[in-house]
Amino acid sequence: MITLKEALQLPKEEIKALRDDLKKRIEEKKELNAYISVDEAGDGVPLLIKDNIQVKGWNITSASKILQGYVAPYNATVIEKIEAAGLSPFGRANMDEFAMGSSTESSFYGKTLNPHAPERVPGGSSGGSAAAVGAGVAIAALGSDTGGSIRQPAAFCGIVGMKPTYGRVSRWGLAAYSSSLDQIGPMTQNVEDAAILYDIISGHDSHDSTSANIDYTPVTPNLDPNRKLKIAVIDNYIKDASAEVQAAYETAIKALEDAGHTIVHKEMMGAKYDIAAYYIIATAEASANLSRYDGIRYGNRAEDPKDLKDLYLRTRSEGFGDEVKRRILLGSFVLSSGYYDAYYLKAQKVRHLIKDEFEEVFKDADLILSPVAPTPAFKFGEMADPLQMYLSDAYTIGVNLAGLPAISLPIQKTAEGLPVGLQLIGKHFDEQTVFDGALSLE
Ligand code: GLN
Repeated sequence: MITLKEALQLPKEEIKALRDDLKKRIEEKKELNAYISVDEAGDGVPLLIKDNIQVKGWNITSASKILQGYVAPYNATVIEKIEAAGLSPFGRANMDEFAMGSSTESSFYGKTLNPHAPERVPGGSSGGSAAAVGAGVAIAALGSDTGGSIRQPAAFCGIVGMKPTYGRVSRWGLAAYSSSLDQIGPMTQNVEDAAILYDIISGHDSHDSTSANIDYTPVTPNLDPNRKLKIAVIDNYIKDASAEVQAAYETAIKALEDAGHTIVHKEMMGAKYDIAAYYIIATAEASANLSRYDGIRYGNRAEDPKDLKDLYLRTRSEGFGDEVKRRILLGSFVLSSGYYDAYYLKAQKVRHLIKDEFEEVFKDADLILSPVAPTPAFKFGEMADPLQMYLSDAYTIGVNLAGLPAISLPIQKTAEGLPVGLQLIGKHFDEQTVFDGALSLE
């Protein structure tokens, strides 16, 4: 498939042929179910959009039954930005319902297959975006990452996925899951394309009160694969990863050393605190954010309600899937009076400790090398226990809790042909170093 960089240089007439070719490819690989729909708007370079990002006049479903039929009344800021740069939204990518999950199995629109192994998951929640780019049925895509949802599916599908610093990319027009953690980011075939798309979508936006109002210097014109960096490896982290991930880790360390970088060895508290803090904060925020889906303002409404309470109850019972319900219950519980201090407040304190710990490591390093997931793509149904699925987010969620930028990129394949990706984590707003480091691992 043509790269994003190449596509952006095509004359207008050739973009039309490119779109037609893309439609043919999508049809040929229909069984992947990477697209919820193949909508088109404009005549720019086609970019696949995760179905939780609003495109004016298009459905936005967040892969939930509750949003069936809802039409977005305005464009997300990232959509305005891509259109200004010569790209056009093309297709809605499948995902876990409301971005809750790590496998895209919770979509109301059915599961997406991993392009490298159809019996395995593409990862999640941006599984449709990752599978489409990995299968050559999208040039590039936008995803969202609340706790790994760009980076983990990128690793499972053998592509590049980047989560910007919290506040770098506007969340205006992104269906909120956990507002203090959500970030939109690029999912692409290579590191340079990720930098190009990242530059297009970044920058301050007065519509998003958490958008960082600081100067923005584009990274693409300054990409430098020859910088010599100090890269930390967290020795106690890697022990919990599978043999395939450990092997990729060794390969990456060797490649970084060969490229002239310095490796420093560190230890960190460990993922059990990350997981506990994340699943309290994310579910608490989700329970508040999802209260807006009441059957009145958005999408689906239960038929023939007896009264208002019945309308709310049945709309939500019928409209939300099991995982979303589980999280609303959990989030409401940790925010309820009597439990707020014990859970929510404590999780916020742990979040600060996690952030401080990253800052401590970054006093002596430019980047951190880390696994993205403990294993390569797992099989459908293998993570039937929700808690087991939550534990598989161990390596990605600390980055969101601390608001840091990170890029996931393919390192090697297992003997079975499954891609294994690793991530490089950077300092706040130092995306330049994240991309530069990634180039030397590509
Ligand atoms: N797997 C994590 C969760 O289920 C992360 C999802 C995400 O980043 N949107 O919450």
